[in-house]
Amino acid sequence: MGLLSEGNPLSWEETKKLVDHVREHGINQFIHLYHRLKDRQGDILKWGDEVEYIIVKFDDEQKVARVSLKAKDLLAKLNEKELADPNGVKSLWRPEYGAYMIEGTPGKPFGGLMAHFNLVEANMRYRREEVTELLDSDECVMSITNFPRLGAPNFTYPVYQPRPEDPLSSARSLYFPDEAIFPGHPRFKTLTRNIRMRRGEKVSIKLKVFKDVNTQLPVEGAPPGEPDVVLLDAMGFGMGCCCLQLTFQACNITEARRLYDQLAPLCPIMLALTAASPVYRGYLTESDCRWNVISSSVDCRTEEERGLKPLKENKFRIAKSRYDSIDSYLSPEGAKYNDVKLTYDEAVYKRLIEGGIDHLLAQHVAHLFIRDTVSLFSEKVHQNDEEDTDHFENIQSTNWQTMRFKPPPPNSSIGWRVEFRPCEAQISDFENAAIVCFVVLLTRVILSYQLNFLTPISKVDENMQTAQKRDACRKEKFWFRKSSKSTEQRAACVQINGTTTNTNGSSNATDSMPLFNGTAKLNGHGNGLNGNANSSSTNTNGTHIQNGSTDSDHTDTDDEDTELFQLLTINEIFNGKPGVFPGLVPLIRSYLQSMEVDTDTHCTIEQYLRFIQKRAAGELITTATWIREQVLSHPDYKKDSIVSDRINYDLLKSIQRIQEGKHVEPALLGQGNHSKTKDFIPPALQKQLAKTGCCEDK
Ligand code: ADP
Ligand code: MG
Ligand code: MG
Ligand code: MG
Ligand code: MG
Repeated sequence: MGLLSEGNPLSWEETKKLVDHVREHGINQFIHLYHRLKDRQGDILKWGDEVEYIIVKFDDEQKVARVSLKAKDLLAKLNEKELADPNGVKSLWRPEYGAYMIEGTPGKPFGGLMAHFNLVEANMRYRREEVTELLDSDECVMSITNFPRLGAPNFTYPVYQPRPEDPLSSARSLYFPDEAIFPGHPRFKTLTRNIRMRRGEKVSIKLKVFKDVNTQLPVEGAPPGEPDVVLLDAMGFGMGCCCLQLTFQACNITEARRLYDQLAPLCPIMLALTAASPVYRGYLTESDCRWNVISSSVDCRTEEERGLKPLKENKFRIAKSRYDSIDSYLSPEGAKYNDVKLTYDEAVYKRLIEGGIDHLLAQHVAHLFIRDTVSLFSEKVHQNDEEDTDHFENIQSTNWQTMRFKPPPPNSSIGWRVEFRPCEAQISDFENAAIVCFVVLLTRVILSYQLNFLTPISKVDENMQTAQKRDACRKEKFWFRKSSKSTEQRAACVQINGTTTNTNGSSNATDSMPLFNGTAKLNGHGNGLNGNANSSSTNTNGTHIQNGSTDSDHTDTDDEDTELFQLLTINEIFNGKPGVFPGLVPLIRSYLQSMEVDTDTHCTIEQYLRFIQKRAAGELITTATWIREQVLSHPDYKKDSIVSDRINYDLLKSIQRIQEGKHVEPALLGQGNHSKTKDFIPPALQKQLAKTGCCEDK
């Protein structure tokens, strides 16, 4: 969402009359933009993170922590610099759903130099300091996924009471007052109201309480017949959570489709690894993640669409909320793993096909467009479909899925991008930076080694549920694709020879890619890691992917192997399981061996990889597990699942000390992490790149 763009939202009754108008024009707009941009080539790798934060206010006398509803005022100040010098700022700040939330991104995306990995953490630190300077001394900006007592009595500052009976209330929640919704832009309250009205009732978010010896059942507010359920009844419970997202630019649409597909199966895996939110409305729950909460928090499906009533008013049964894991792959190789039937309107699909869109993309867009607009502004109703994209973006941006396929915006120099959206926000900049750098490195390895993580959509869906279970990172197993011999050979041959000589005998795109030529660039013409349209538009069989073709000509003999998909632990996925999968981190390491990286950047990346390996191995615990342990061991805890004001206060104070580096929590961060993060690339490095050096083991 752009900076402070205001508008006049239509009522739900008015919006409802225009849902087909938005659909029809949104589809036309997509067709136009597709033809304008489908042949765009040679965009270089750019990438950037988004971190969401909660502003917490501490009352040190009463020992109470509350969310501070000052995001609007804070943003006005944070945006001053950007307004004065849009291209010169080091950070950008945007509103989020909560009146106590802000979202920060780097001022400019990072690019294709290895040294850029060394900038992320420093930039995140800068953002945190920038906000902190504007806060009162009893306030703190925190990258926590959920405020543990969100929705518990008096959780806001200033304190407001919910008004469930007030017809003017957007949420009508028993727990979450409208004042906790960002007041500076009408979008948030409009979405809240329209989602509730479209659904025909308040949203209903159900979490199993973590049953301890003294847990009182029914839980306060539990639905009839479900005494062990913590019920949440407002969009704010989900959209008021924070997450960590990253976006990267592909060299062309084909590479974007491929990365979208390859990263989709990794979403539940990264969700489990980053699990950080076990407490809701002051109760310990059985869930470690926000995902199902946020999914239910914007579930605008009617009873008919949810299958509770026969279809009469509505067109379809719809399996999922508009906030959920993706439903289909977009690349030809992915096609055969689209094993869940997609719901879409045949007429919309046909219009897309007739408009020249290929089957996979047409069904993706048609499926997005089963949703009605739930936020429409009067000044946006009539548009020029050949140039505008607002109606398309309206539906696209309210399909909140694990991955987002982002077309280039109109009149910009931005290319086709893919957004990775599952991760929970971590306490420290170190952890958030580690996760961002890890995922970006993974994209490079996927492209370089032509890795294949494709897993049937039904199994990815199953993994999404597994990922959210208590301590899934250490205890659960996930469907994962066994690596083909060629993958292992590709990785192994790099480790042994430091070259990419292809050993599997088949024609492979890597043959034409001088991947490991010792430059520290991640893209650009000449080295082929990205931005090389020829190599990237070639699939593993060396054939061109035709955007218009509906079926895959990709054959993978491994698929005959019934053992292709195995259940692996997070440890096995990240650190490897002999004969099954080399491990994500070893694959990245092998890739890095052949890259020339300056000493400091190398050291930083090494710290990040080690941290990820240890968390995956269970040597370090997830934020969620750590929060549980903090609650369970608190002297005030009565073994009743309740996270009291005092426990909440002490927990958040501990988090504050950790994020400020005043306390190194061994269970979370080991012996401490000393990345060599910098807020600039040394000029010498920009020209002459230092030889790869090994950093000392700290
Ligand atoms: P949204 O909220 O729509 O997901 P944001 O603008 O908040 O998007 O964040 C997008 C992220 O993408 C930021 O980190 C930004 O730095 C990064 N970014 C900006 N331009 C590009 C680009 N051309 N390619 C890749 N990433 C980009
Ligand atoms: Mg956003
Ligand atoms: Mg954003
Ligand atoms: Mg956001
Ligand atoms: Mg985003």
